[in-house]
Amino acid sequence: MLRRMGCWGAAVSLQGRQIGFLEHFMAFVDLDRLGKYIDLPAAARDILDGPEKQIIMSLRLKLSETEHIAAPAYVVYYGTVRGPAKGGIRIMPDVTLEETTHLAELMTWKTALVRIPFGGGKSGICLDPTPLTRFIKTAFMKEWVAQMRNDLQLGVYIPAPDMNTNPADMAVIFGEMHIPECVTGKPTGVGGLPGRLEATGRGVATITKLTAEQVLKRAPNEMSVAIQGFGNVGSFAALYLKDLGFKITAVSDVHGAIVNEDGFDVGRLLRHVREHRTVVGFPGKKIANDELLTLPVDVLIPAASGDVITEKNANTIRAKAIVEAANNPLTRGGDHIIAERGIPAVPDILANAGGVVGSYYEWHHSKSGGMTTKEEVLDRIDMVLTKAWIRTLAAREQYKCDLRNASLIVAGEELVGALRDRNWI
Ligand code: NAD
Repeated sequence: MLRRMGCWGAAVSLQGRQIGFLEHFMAFVDLDRLGKYIDLPAAARDILDGPEKQIIMSLRLKLSETEHIAAPAYVVYYGTVRGPAKGGIRIMPDVTLEETTHLAELMTWKTALVRIPFGGGKSGICLDPTPLTRFIKTAFMKEWVAQMRNDLQLGVYIPAPDMNTNPADMAVIFGEMHIPECVTGKPTGVGGLPGRLEATGRGVATITKLTAEQVLKRAPNEMSVAIQGFGNVGSFAALYLKDLGFKITAVSDVHGAIVNEDGFDVGRLLRHVREHRTVVGFPGKKIANDELLTLPVDVLIPAASGDVITEKNANTIRAKAIVEAANNPLTRGGDHIIAERGIPAVPDILANAGGVVGSYYEWHHSKSGGMTTKEEVLDRIDMVLTKAWIRTLAAREQYKCDLRNASLIVAGEELVGALRDRNWI
């Protein structure tokens, strides 16, 4: 056990819980189903069915003579056949090796779908970040770098921000390594890319527009949108959706949800959130948080945490389409019901891929020392995502399947091709 007097870290027994983990891991992607659509050799299945490498660490930091932090931390490389493992660092008190592995799996399929030269990875640090001052968090991030130095130096793993890590934390990694391309999501003043902050939300808006026009066959300016979660992804998605003509009629965050059937003034809402750190208190009808998911809107965008649409509530969803801005917002059971009900769900690996595409351009610029503008970056993200959208829609047409399976078919063919190219199968 790691817990001792004065320890801030999570109490987790590393031994036992993790040993044999690989035997019990169940991949998110249903490879049996995928194998019915594409040629998926047994050797490729074996590789894609589990992570390539899992690193388990104990991060420790002495704060004073009586206090210290000790936190379990995980880094997972799920699939690196197409390039180095790419994925963010998540700090959450309840993050597990299993969750980290699933998120790394998702990154493997996402990078393949949008055809950027990366594989899938993820980091999880099991710690409550709320009591950490900036000073302590910086020292803690340096401990993480100390343990990961070799892999960062070799470019085996390229981290980015995820929940509870931000550009300032990425600046710490850059500062320790002095290698601009070893990390993305840096502040613009230290080699970060203009537009990277907005990239995921921008991509969500672009994909939602394509869904409206080509799947629902409706114009954006006659459609309403509900967004669960108003953090980085949800707030920028709202901003760009409003620009495209959509009406944002409901938003929520961890503190509550509000509705305005005439559509919110998103610019004013953003200023309110910057000032008050919540959407609550902005003019609009207050509703219960879960109620947002069941509103009769045209598009529902879950942009908070995973597993929010499950077997329990999937039958109560009244949206005409779902765009997965969050990672894994639908459980397998929830997804099954939504698909049976004929509600199109645009999968996370397509809908929120703008972030990793932005990261790719930042990595490229850091390597080459180039310069660019926010507009150029956002245009390129639109272009890459639109191409992935076209490939996905073509697969949906060819295989007569839903968008999730279509995206996995496209990514699967890409991954199997790379496995063959590298003679891994
Ligand atoms: P964030 O921490 O900036 O924002 C999360 C938002 O969700 C906050 O407003 C929070 O209050 C809200 N929230 C949390 N629980 C909620 C609940 N139960 N009901 C309503 N709101 C709730 O995080 P983010 O970076 O915006 O990421 C959101 C999701 O998008 C995550 O699933 C993340 O993995 C995914 N994602 C993020 C990026 C990125 O570039 N940031 C890229 C791809 C995917």
